[in-house]
Amino acid sequence: MATLTEREGYVIRAANFRDSDQMISALTSDGLISFLARGVNKPTSKNGPACRLLAHSKFSLSEGKAGGFSLRESLCLAPAPEKEDLLTMASLTFIAELSSKTLQGEGLGKEYPWLARAVEAIREGFDPLTSVLVLFAHYLALEGFGLNVDECVYCGAKTGIVGLSYQDGGFVCRKCLNESATEANSRKLKIIRYCFRCGLSDFSRVTFQKEECIGLISELCQYLNDLTGVRLKSLSIIQKL
Ligand SMILES: [Zn+2]
Repeated sequence: MATLTEREGYVIRAANFRDSDQMISALTSDGLISFLARGVNKPTSKNGPACRLLAHSKFSLSEGKAGGFSLRESLCLAPAPEKEDLLTMASLTFIAELSSKTLQGEGLGKEYPWLARAVEAIREGFDPLTSVLVLFAHYLALEGFGLNVDECVYCGAKTGIVGLSYQDGGFVCRKCLNESATEANSRKLKIIRYCFRCGLSDFSRVTFQKEECIGLISELCQYLNDLTGVRLKSLSIIQKL
């Protein structure tokens, strides 16, 4: 008799596998779980809704002899936000790809409330691109790639901040500006600081303009690519918005 285990989380990856099956990965408060969902691509599958990208669902899984999990039953607690506009769809696609490509390995329980908050904020009608940006900054910070947005990364000065160096990981003061740093206006620096420092309860307190979000999401993608080699394909959809 296979052991059954119950998990609740958000689907971040759904990859076709054989004819009508999918391999599903979900982020839960205990970390990532992956399992085989048999027949889930069939239109009649009862498990279809729970296994869609960014659905919030409960999964009842059985563990096979080799250690892999497969889906027995599911309950979709809330489907992915169903908004038809391109901006929301592009943002959700980006969040799923960002989550599946950056969240790997052990733990990840700390990332879960941020993903949940981002998806729920979009469901409540909060600006999707601001959600993407704040989530992205927090994923980077939790994975150990946070930027130092409290002081100059070179001299520790808290005043006279005029730029940012992704290469050296944070803010740069006027005295220390060098070729690896780019100058930025105070609004941009404030937005970056807010995105890295805001708490969960502040998540939907401020929204930023579309161009500001797209510009910064693009910069964070480049930063992530330089650090890890990960390239996010759905950035191109965001950049066309
Ligand atoms: Zn300095």
